[in-house]
Amino acid sequence: MNDDGTVNRSALPAIFNPEDLNALELALQIKDKFGGKITVITMGLPAAGAILRDSLFRSADDAILITDQRCAASDTLATSYILSCAVRKIGDFDIVLCGRQAIDGDTAQVGPQLAEKLGIPQITYVEELIELNGKTITARRNIGAGWQQVRTKLPALLTVTADANESRVAAAKKMMKYKNARTPIEVEQETRRQRTEDGRQNSEDSEVEIKKLVEKTCSELKEKGLLIKQWDLDFVGADLNWCGRSGSPTKVHRIQSVVLAAKESKNVEPNDQGISDMIHELIEDKIIA
Ligand SMILES: Cc1cc2nc3c(=O)[nH]c(=O)nc-3n(C[C@H](O)[C@H](O)[C@H](O)COP(=O)(O)OP(=O)(O)OC[C@H]3O[C@@H](n4cnc5c(N)ncnc54)[C@H](O)[C@@H]3O)c2cc1C
Repeated sequence: MNDDGTVNRSALPAIFNPEDLNALELALQIKDKFGGKITVITMGLPAAGAILRDSLFRSADDAILITDQRCAASDTLATSYILSCAVRKIGDFDIVLCGRQAIDGDTAQVGPQLAEKLGIPQITYVEELIELNGKTITARRNIGAGWQQVRTKLPALLTVTADANESRVAAAKKMMKYKNARTPIEVEQETRRQRTEDGRQNSEDSEVEIKKLVEKTCSELKEKGLLIKQWDLDFVGADLNWCGRSGSPTKVHRIQSVVLAAKESKNVEPNDQGISDMIHELIEDKIIA
């Protein structure tokens, strides 16, 4: 954690949030049966580009990264506002599919708040799609001690649980096609890294050169259909008062490390076997996926 109570994201690897994979799988199943176009949107640091590539490998049609330093420190309210601006920017849509919740925050708030902001009905905790026609969608939702079947008119938002499906693996052909797909910010980062490795100086001249190189690479990627869309808050028309820190009423008061008492702890042998056994146990207990 950073001192201000935000997550130090640069210290963490970017991963595909597990239930977002279930949301993508449901989107793919709907497309397989009814046709349509799947656009994956994520708000995050440039590293989130890898997750969008993964979505393309898994057969999504389009991918959009919302990256902007002014998004930092967004709580769920600000995040759902920014995502709602992006969805409105896309315009025409029938269904918005979200994972039930992220494994870092565990709030399950972003999907429902997004539906509120878009002014569309929502079905949360979806574990099965029952029926879809041109006007309505019917789904079974988990309500803890049982289930509920809900029908609503389209457009609608669904949040999808891990029980809904098993996500398909990346398609080899798509991996070959999209392995070089990049967002503009990744192109810039790679260009800068390459120049540092080549031992070239950073100066005002080199900044101009970098800009030209980035523009050239981006236009080459775009021609090949490999430039992943990158939007900022200005582009989606977001009101900055509702974004980032100023748009986030949730304040982290205190972060506490929990130290387990001896009887709740377990000794793990400090070797590969010990770690492997522990990981298997955590997977079996569904603590990690
Ligand atoms: C115990 C606990 C309970 C909490 N409970 C709630 C709760 O009930 N409701 C709630 O709303 N929040 C809750 N939070 C979240 C809290 O509000 C957030 O921690 C805080 O708002 C900042 O989020 P972060 O640490 O994830 O910050 P950040 O790391 O800044 O991330 C916030 C969001 O901004 C994105 N982001 C960061 N940088 C960029 C960038 N350059 N471009 C685009 N996107 C970017 C991140 O991907 C993320 O989605 C809780 C946090 C804790 C620790």
